[in-house]
This record gives sequence, structure tokens and C-alpha cells, in this order.
Amino acid sequence: MRQQTLRIAIIGAGIGGLTAAACLRRIGVEVCIFEQARGFTRLGAGIQQAPNAIRVLYALGLKDRLLAQAFQPDSNDSRDYDTGALTNSLPLGEAVRARHGVPYFLMHRGDLHAMLAELVPPEAIRLNHRLMGLDHNPDGTVRLRFTNGESAEADAVIGADGVHSIVREAMLGPEAPRFTGRVAYRTVFPTRRLNGLDVYPCIKWWGPDRHIVSYFVNPRRDELYFVTSTPEPDFSIESWSSKGDLDTLRAAYDMFHPQVRAILAACPDVHKWALVERDPLPRWVEGNVALLGDACHPMTPYMAQGASTSIEDGAVLSRCLDGVDRDGVNAALRRYEATRKPRTSRIQLTSAQNTWLRQPHDADWVYGYDAWTEPLAPAS
Ligand code: FAD
Repeated sequence: MRQQTLRIAIIGAGIGGLTAAACLRRIGVEVCIFEQARGFTRLGAGIQQAPNAIRVLYALGLKDRLLAQAFQPDSNDSRDYDTGALTNSLPLGEAVRARHGVPYFLMHRGDLHAMLAELVPPEAIRLNHRLMGLDHNPDGTVRLRFTNGESAEADAVIGADGVHSIVREAMLGPEAPRFTGRVAYRTVFPTRRLNGLDVYPCIKWWGPDRHIVSYFVNPRRDELYFVTSTPEPDFSIESWSSKGDLDTLRAAYDMFHPQVRAILAACPDVHKWALVERDPLPRWVEGNVALLGDACHPMTPYMAQGASTSIEDGAVLSRCLDGVDRDGVNAALRRYEATRKPRTSRIQLTSAQNTWLRQPHDADWVYGYDAWTEPLAPAS
């Protein structure tokens, strides 16, 4: 039986950190999230959430919100970039609900972030707190130091601070993620700008060395999202808010199908950033500190699984910590790592190949995962 309520600090209020907080609150843990940003902004981006993530989100009570705000495509199609020939069509819609029990959703990233943020009381999210370092106290607790001069202490710390994680750096030393030589241009814009053009609801156009994905982000189909993977080996800034040049983007896709060119012609502006990745890390845990989400398994977006696996992490983490007292935290965190790493490493490596769903193949090992019932690694 727990002797006293665990106090867990989470660094980063992204999709991973917020989900972890919501999952930990379900098991009675006291959670505080420290986020460097001064507020949350709604940048133009879509996000795919597959059944493996939706099982977690439904258990957190988000079913009605998701059904109301997210789009459910009938299929996820792959087409050749120029002829438009269909190379694969993965049935979604009713087929995915029948197979996996929950939908496959496409939505605005800001909508997903907002609904997760509402699961955590505002007083448990400390904005404008940028972690600069941490110290392990002899009794196992952890002291956090922030650039605003404040400090905090917790029984355990979860580093959900993204691909440039300071918590990862404190654990494993400085090492920049690997730039893939490719950039993502992406934006969400009103479909009325297409002047009635009928576009595919969920499509990936595969070119010889580049691709573009587009889909609707709400059930009304009045907003369209696209994201590219475009070779630009000289680009190096990774920022959610870096603007892209529309002429450069349109020129990069001028050999693509007329539908792609029409979408790019209609979009009013676009963001751009470098696509980076890491190999699976040697470890995710040190003392009572653990990593989660992009901090420990950043991946290329080619399977649309980065956020989904971060969401899975939160559920498994909460199962490992359920009923654990302070003395058991390190063992619980190691159990979390042992449960999660084989799966996330496999997805990282598969995603890097950028062949996912171009041709028919088995998606069940990804979408069929249930973070609430998956056997946990043996306790050590
Ligand atoms: P982040 O979202 O990076 O959040 C980290 C948080 O930590 C941020 O709020 C940041 O401000 C904060 N932070 C950072 N440093 C500090 C610090 N020192 N102190 C305090 N706070 C700090 N995934 C999907 O599942 N489906 C998709 O369709 C999909 N599409 C994608 C498309 C593109 C182009 C890209 C690049 C990624 C895509 N992903 C997708 C992946 C997904 O975006 C990430 O995997 C996911 O956002 C990771 O969440 P996170 O919470 O781990 O990290």
C-alpha cells in the first residue's frame, strides 16, 4: 500500500507530457508539469491518431470530444505522385472500428493538445518554466532548476521535453539529433480556398525522393492539412514556427499530380522545419528520472506514430507506478522502459524506412497495441 502520495514532476506540456499527467492523476499521483512556453499556441498542423493511441484517449474520457472534432476517413490511400495510380488503400472508417474497436482519427493538432490540457487542472501546469538542470538527491528525490531562477523538488521526474530534451542530455550527455536532410512543409487552411475542387480525404502522394500527405482535420471537411517530406540538405533550423517559402515549395512539387499542385496553389502560407531523428537510446532511466515521448524515441513522421507512441507511454508509465511508494520508483521506471523500448525502437526503425503503407502490409502490430492490457515487463 502507498505510504504517501507520490509527487511527480513532468517536464514539457506537449502531447506526451499532458497525456502522462492525465494518466498519473488517474492513479492518485500528485503531478506538476513544468513547461518552458509562456502559453499554448495553435499552429497550423494536423495529426493522425491511430487506434493504439485512441484506446488511451478514450479511457481518459475524450471519446465524445474526439468524435465531435476529428475526421474519420474511410481509407488511407497511397498514390503515385504523377499518374495518381493507387498503390495501396488501407480500409479505415467502419473497417478499422470493426477490427480494432475504436476509430482512426485525423484532426487538428491544436484540438488534440487543447483537449489533453483540459484533463489537467491549470494550477498543475507551470508555464514559463524552462528546465536548465537537475540534481539527484541522496534520498532519491530530484531537484529541478529552471532558467527563471526557481527550483522544485519531486519524488520522480518524467522528461517529456521533446527531441532536444534537457532531461535526456542530463542523463546521457549532449548529442544533437540527426538531421535527415529533409524538411516538412505543413499547414492547415480552409477548403473553400480550393474553389470547389474535390480532393481525396486522406492521401499520400509518393514521389521518387519526396512525398506529400493531405487530409481533412474535422468532420465538416472545411479545413485541409498537408505535410511534405522534401529534400533540403542545407536547412537546419528546427522550429514549430519557422515560415516556409511558398514559391520554393510549389516548385519542389511542380512535377506532381494536378491535385497536389492545386492544393499548393491554394494554400496561403506554410510552416517549415527540419526532420530529425535519433537511434534508439541506450537507456531511458536514471535514478528516479525517466524519459517519455520524443525525448526518448523521436522518429520520422512517416508512420504518424510519434505522438501516438508518446500517448501509449503515459498509459504504461501509470500502470508501472500504480501502487508504488517512493522506494519503488526506480524499479517501476525501469519496468516502464523495459515494457516500452522494444516497441518504440521497432517503430522508430520502421518509420525511418519511409515505406509504411505504400504497398499493402500488416498494420495490426502497430494499431492493435493496447497500452492498458499489454503485458508489463517482469518487475526487477
Ligand atoms: P513535444 O511535442 O516536442 O513537446 C515537448 C514539450 O516540452 C514542448 O511543449 C516544449 O515547449 C517543452 N520543453 C522543451 N524543452 C523544455 C525545457 N527545457 N523545459 C520545459 N519545457 C520544455 N505523430 C503522430 O502521432 N501522428 C502524426 O500524424 C504526426 N505527424 C507529424 C508530422 C511532422 C511533420 C512531425 C515533425 C511530427 C509528427 N508527429 C506525429 C510526431 C509528433 O509530433 C511528436 O512525436 C510528438 O509531438 C511528441 O510529443 P512530446 O510531448 O514527446 O514532445
